[in-house]
Amino acid sequence: MELNLDRQPIVNPMDLSERELQKATTSLDKSVAFVVNWCQKNSIWPVTMGLACCAIEMMGTGAARYDIARFGAEVFRPSPRQADLMIVAGWVNKKMSELVRRIYDQMPEPKWVIAMGSCASCGGMHNSYAVLQGVDQIVPVDIYVPGCPPRPEALLWGLLELQKRIAEDKRIQYFQK
Ligand code: SF4
Repeated sequence: MELNLDRQPIVNPMDLSERELQKATTSLDKSVAFVVNWCQKNSIWPVTMGLACCAIEMMGTGAARYDIARFGAEVFRPSPRQADLMIVAGWVNKKMSELVRRIYDQMPEPKWVIAMGSCASCGGMHNSYAVLQGVDQIVPVDIYVPGCPPRPEALLWGLLELQKRIAEDKRIQYFQK
């Protein structure tokens, strides 16, 4: 019996019109972009930025019970040059704000910020001249996690929301060119 191998014809790129070639390149670009974003969102390295009581919950998120490693974000870095996420856990007083900004500036692009807790998001209970009324006054915040303190589940929710955002982020390809 004769085998009928229903094969796709082999396409010689030299025979494609310019428009067809452009379409093929665009879909390849999209596939590469998808893979690059997927890798980036599943290997987030947060810089250590525990400033007050919220930091205890952030540490709890990294411990065995909540295990942030399930989402690929367990590698907390002491050096901003090796990090791409800043989780601001706790209130930022004005003396500290300059240092927070400097650490943010030292992080390589692309980078993201999570404001963890009401103090980092809007000053919280510290309605005082000495405390920044939201860390978004000095760095661009991507995700706000509400609560005082937010439980580890809330921080994981923030991380998952950030991952959705990273999956769509077009800056990643731009900075890798
Ligand atoms: S939000 Fe609550 S737990 Fe977090 S730093 Fe402020 S006072 Fe502390």
